Amino acid sequence: MSGVLLDVKNLERHFDGLKAVDGISFTVAPGEVVSIIGPNGSGKTTTLNLVAGTIRAHGGTISLGDTRIDRADSARIAEYGIARTFQNGRVFATLSVADNIEVGLHSTLHATRPFRGLSHLFLLRWIPLLGELFIAIVGTPASRRERIEIDANVDAQLHRFEARLGSRRDDPAYSLSYANRRRAEIARAMALKPTLLVLDEPTAGMNQSETAEVLEQLLELKAEGQAILLVEHKLDLVMKLSDRVIVMDGGRIIAEGRPEDVRHDPAVIEAYIGR
Ligand code: ADP
Repeated sequence: MSGVLLDVKNLERHFDGLKAVDGISFTVAPGEVVSIIGPNGSGKTTTLNLVAGTIRAHGGTISLGDTRIDRADSARIAEYGIARTFQNGRVFATLSVADNIEVGLHSTLHATRPFRGLSHLFLLRWIPLLGELFIAIVGTPASRRERIEIDANVDAQLHRFEARLGSRRDDPAYSLSYANRRRAEIARAMALKPTLLVLDEPTAGMNQSETAEVLEQLLELKAEGQAILLVEHKLDLVMKLSDRVIVMDGGRIIAEGRPEDVRHDPAVIEAYIGR
């Protein structure tokens, strides 16, 4: 595929004078997998947070396709087509796996009022009468057709993680292993059918076999043409998965290229691997 999906230009973000992201520029093409690596504190997570709208930039621009997104909030950015996961995995512990996936959908169906999506889900599931009353006052829930589409989408995502999540559809998220919670989080992000999937250390805290499984799943997403921007510490995974690697140090990009080239770049070895 050609063209640019995500276009980041001269992006800046500081925290009390500390330049966490110091004027970086990069792109992600449609269907491309781009990894950001670098030592701790080099600005990787801040970059993801800026792209996903979790925090605001102090300078520069971010565009998704033809749309400037650097002034949009995270719900709007999700609606534009960027879905993300977090470093420590964020799921609603008492909701079932299926409902966790669905929550993501509701928050974009109602991008301007994510609370409404959540409240619909809770109220319709557990207090139908009160729920109907609430909806009568504040608005309409998903139509029957939307309901069918949502269920099909949730099932499709569960199917993606069949071996691990398929049988856990109705189990509360707190009963899942850590690795499965992280899978559920990726499933929730994928339910949004994002044009760009943003993953913050998708295998953090996972053992070797869990990491290998997540790598397989990410390779499948890549084969389906899913564009992915990720931060990851496990270089082996980065090298196997990425089309391109961006290396950050001190808030700047110090190297960028194909995995095999970056791996042998002396500046990278010094800044990242050598420490
Ligand atoms: P990385 O993901 O590469 O480890 P981060 O993007 O998390 O790096 O952090 C980059 C720098 O910005 C670090 O020095 C970090 O301490 C600082 N930083 C990140 N988030 C905040 C924040 N919310 N408040 C203050 N400083 C922050």
